[in-house]
Amino acid sequence: KEELNMIQGALELRTKTVEDVMTLLSDCFMIHVDATLDFDTMSDIMKSGYTRIPVYEGEKSNIVDLLFVKDLAFVDPKDCTSLKTITKFYSHSLHFVFNDTKLDVMLEEFKKGKSHLAIVQRVNNECKGDPFYEVLGIVTLEDVIEELIKSEILDE
Ligand code: ADP
Repeated sequence: KEELNMIQGALELRTKTVEDVMTLLSDCFMIHVDATLDFDTMSDIMKSGYTRIPVYEGEKSNIVDLLFVKDLAFVDPKDCTSLKTITKFYSHSLHFVFNDTKLDVMLEEFKKGKSHLAIVQRVNNECKGDPFYEVLGIVTLEDVIEELIKSEILDE
């Protein structure tokens, strides 16, 4: 039965899109670009439990960088280091994908290994002005795998 489920999940990767499985921007744990890595901020990050944290400037839809929790290994909260110092040092690349990207294509992208988190955007042409790219959320390898195995992966 489990196998049958997975076969169905595998077949559905060809029709489902990243938008179907992504985490909405409003549910994303993020950090502001001007943050200081003091005790409060660092404990918020630790408590969130996430491995990768998008860094935004102005609005949450304006993701400008990515912080990995492991980047904080040498940061002492007493030093009140600015987030920018750390993100500049590690300078992780951002990976954008369109909302209609199919999950099989997304899985292949993730397998290439550049990043296991991608930012989902769409072309918004519903407004009067010029069309623009609108960030909708984030998608990770885990979101795709869950769709493949058709069940939730519980975090440690
Ligand atoms: P982690 O390693 O941080 O647990 P995973 O890649 O295993 O992240 O993803 C687990 C789930 O959490 C996925 O549904 C993913 O979309 C979501 N997720 C990942 N990072 C964040 C974040 N910063 N804020 C909110 N949700 C996130």
